[in-house]
Amino acid sequence: MSTITDTTSKLMEVLSAGPEPHLMTGEQYKESLRDGRRVIDSKGNEIKDVTAHPALKRGIDNLAKVYDSQFDPETKDVTTFVNPEDGKRYSTGWMVPKTKEDLKRRREALRLSTYHTFGVFGRPNDYGSMMAMGFLSIIDKIEKENSEYADNVRRFVEFSQKHNVISADLIPDVQTDKNLPSDQKKGTLRVVEERSDGIVLRGAKPCGSVGVQGHFATVSTATSPNLDPDAALWCAVPINSPGLTLVLREPVTSPDSNFEDHPIDSHGEETDNMMIFNDVFIPNKYIFSLRNTKLLGLYRESCALCHWHILARLMYRAEIFLAAGQTMVDILGTDSFQGVRDSVSEIISYSASLKAHILAAEEEAELWNGVLVPSTKFVTAGRLQSILLYPRIMHILRDLSGQGLISRFTSETWEHPEIGPLLDEYLPGAGVTAREKNTFFNFVWDLACGSHSSRVALFENTNSTNAPVVQSELYRSYDRSEPVKFLREYLGLPQVNREMKRLYKADLK
Ligand SMILES: Cc1cc2nc3c(=O)[nH]c(=O)nc-3n(C[C@H](O)[C@H](O)[C@H](O)COP(=O)(O)OP(=O)(O)OC[C@H]3O[C@@H](n4cnc5c(N)ncnc54)[C@H](O)[C@@H]3O)c2cc1C
Repeated sequence: MSTITDTTSKLMEVLSAGPEPHLMTGEQYKESLRDGRRVIDSKGNEIKDVTAHPALKRGIDNLAKVYDSQFDPETKDVTTFVNPEDGKRYSTGWMVPKTKEDLKRRREALRLSTYHTFGVFGRPNDYGSMMAMGFLSIIDKIEKENSEYADNVRRFVEFSQKHNVISADLIPDVQTDKNLPSDQKKGTLRVVEERSDGIVLRGAKPCGSVGVQGHFATVSTATSPNLDPDAALWCAVPINSPGLTLVLREPVTSPDSNFEDHPIDSHGEETDNMMIFNDVFIPNKYIFSLRNTKLLGLYRESCALCHWHILARLMYRAEIFLAAGQTMVDILGTDSFQGVRDSVSEIISYSASLKAHILAAEEEAELWNGVLVPSTKFVTAGRLQSILLYPRIMHILRDLSGQGLISRFTSETWEHPEIGPLLDEYLPGAGVTAREKNTFFNFVWDLACGSHSSRVALFENTNSTNAPVVQSELYRSYDRSEPVKFLREYLGLPQVNREMKRLYKADLK
């Protein structure tokens, strides 16, 4: 196992060996992960080198390719930008959006990472900044608590920009009996010691997607309004912190699969893990808020940019779903059936409506403390659509496939001297050979049927709170006071009182 190196020194060492001061190549990224982190795989073994482990290697290689795109002449203007202040190139993923053009540029980088990974990495390279920038967008509230913490947020964003980091989010508490009072939940992450140079944390955080494949986790407690003060905590945690153990879930892709048999899964997966903090020391510079129960519950505000990214990624995934649906009916020759066209139209509607929500959100974006935040009302409404209709879209893809998802054969079967030629003869599609059609349905399997697709469906449903919670939020926050006032005036009804109005005219700032 590699020895633990301070994250800053490791990143500086890695960057100094490369061609750009603030950008890593894929190889540099892989080297940056060999930093002594403690990870336990699903068989209970300690992982010596995450970049070589069968459950992690392919996913890391996939993210490494996105790092490499920062140097590819064809893509570097999408994945990086030149900072006018020093003339150096930085990752677009760490560009603080200040204008609509910036949001659009960030979205282009997101398009690239989504098309590259088919969006099955919910936390791709360019996502990592979203939570830190969320903190930046509400920095006035942090400043009120402690101006040093506010400076820490600013410095963390600057540090991450300069070091091209991937950061995971850790928001919910570990799942346990909800009836227990917060201070009796042993697993809840909390401060157990406060020192002059930092704090010591004990407990756990669940579901750290991409954590083991990244450099930091940004911790917040914004979905837990009833925590006790010791557990009210926002901070950054270096993944290789002494005392921190990342425990991996069971893998959902096979390390041996090839591209033809599994066009998506053969590129690996984003791994989720639970992070166990066994007296982990967090230096002062990484603390963003401590014991401030007023910040608990500021989920929509602090995660507004995260939610925009999540919805925009799904918007690009929906384009891929549409491409899959259309290609399917074209190669099966079923596109002349009206029922089939109706089903494809549902995917078109899903894709177009997610896009409409994103474009409206960007059009009505607001500057919060110098960060341009897409309109939360359109993002929240869009997220509800995206979650509720996701199972329907998956069902349509499976339904339109007919037997295609089952009459799939492995590349080894196609190579069989007797069976292969028969399959070639019996199974061709419209304009494609039988084997090409088979590869296409392997892709649809990975997208909508296999274990990996189930993990991704769970992620899409739950990662940033599920539909009932989003619905409550929409009811609470969507301003419909003007049309209600109009209707009541028109019908001569008494106007709503302040209390009722407050219910649906939530003032965020
Ligand atoms: C694959 C996957 C990856 C994830 N990755 C991340 C990540 O990277 N970072 C991160 O921070 N989180 C991540 N999450 C975690 C996710 O944010 C939480 O699972 C989510 O917030 C729900 O919290 P919980 O699991 O504790 O559900 P619980 O609070 O235990 O709730 C269980 C169920 O009860 C219902 N319920 C609970 N509360 C309400 C309510 N108020 N109103 C109506 N119904 C309710 C819902 O059906 C809910 O699913 C991930 C989740 C999954 C499945």
